[in-house]
Amino acid sequence: MLKVLRDAGPQTKNQLADVLGIPRTTLNASVRGLTDAGHVEDGSVAVSSGGRRSVTVRIASGRRFLVVSMSETSARVALLDGQLTVTSGVNIDLHDRDLETEWLADTVCRAAHRLLGTSAPAAVGVAAADIEPTAAEAVVARLASAYPDRPRATVSAVRALALGERCEGSASAADDLVAVRLGRSVTVATVAGGSLVLGSTGRSGEIGHLRVEEFGPACACGLTGCLDAFVSSSALVAQATSLARRGRSSGLAQVLERAGKLDLRDLVDAGRTGDAVVAQVGRELGQRLGRVVAGLVAHGNPRRVVVGGPVAAIGPSVLGDLRATVYRLAPPSLAEGLDISLSDPYGRADLIGGAAAAITSWIEQDF
Ligand SMILES: [Zn+2]
Repeated sequence: MLKVLRDAGPQTKNQLADVLGIPRTTLNASVRGLTDAGHVEDGSVAVSSGGRRSVTVRIASGRRFLVVSMSETSARVALLDGQLTVTSGVNIDLHDRDLETEWLADTVCRAAHRLLGTSAPAAVGVAAADIEPTAAEAVVARLASAYPDRPRATVSAVRALALGERCEGSASAADDLVAVRLGRSVTVATVAGGSLVLGSTGRSGEIGHLRVEEFGPACACGLTGCLDAFVSSSALVAQATSLARRGRSSGLAQVLERAGKLDLRDLVDAGRTGDAVVAQVGRELGQRLGRVVAGLVAHGNPRRVVVGGPVAAIGPSVLGDLRATVYRLAPPSLAEGLDISLSDPYGRADLIGGAAAAITSWIEQDF
């Protein structure tokens, strides 16, 4: 029942009995037990199909879930309710910082205390991108000692993105989707039949070191021609730097002159003003990635492909060429009706996905 309430929001008792396939009397007893324990409460009034007004049941607003989402450019600390609504949050900018793990763990914990006051969260979720691995570990360890008896879930950022998009927004009720996260590395997560695909060793979706051109450019991993060597944030910055040096963008050339180097934020800013170099690297990224995503579409037959992560913010050129390439290369019967779109640029899906994972661990540990 709690999983249904998490995914579908407040429900009438008739709706719950239908979805769960249990008699109304059994359901009433369960709702009464959960209400007495403070886990669920009455929600707003819904008008049923027969015109009758019924009170809905929802996860109690006193049950708050603490989520920390760490990406290459920021860490966010937020509280969400059982309906996966963000109720408060703090953003910690990580641009221009050499990531110091103890500083990050301290700052995250202080933010959590400020949001929660003296109360404890019902559960804690951490969604971490492939940043310094020790940074994510330090944050998880610090939260574990701050809230020792609370259930915890840790998921990768791309899986949080997929879980969040599954529960939220235009992907609502999309049980077959592929999330693509563009950041320091490119990663994907697949939701099939409503469940995350993990793989035999739990590493499903690590496509960054898929070698798309055996004799292509050198990759950070030591091999050549990996997908990351073309589309990771550092690869894009290197491509844009080279084009700016050759006089292809006066705006980026000025930044280069002033700062001595470019970073992803410079590309995002320039992309907003229609910079030609950013548009070009974005188009090439879309085409390169599109060939890989077309294969994923042929294999997994998703209803939706959603693209997120810090690199996705560089502009519409990425999405345009990605779409065109996938629709051109994927088998037509699988491309038909496929939706390809950008995730919320503010990364709300990561928080929602982290909270969904936290609620799952709460249900599994406390019930
Ligand atoms: Zn590689």
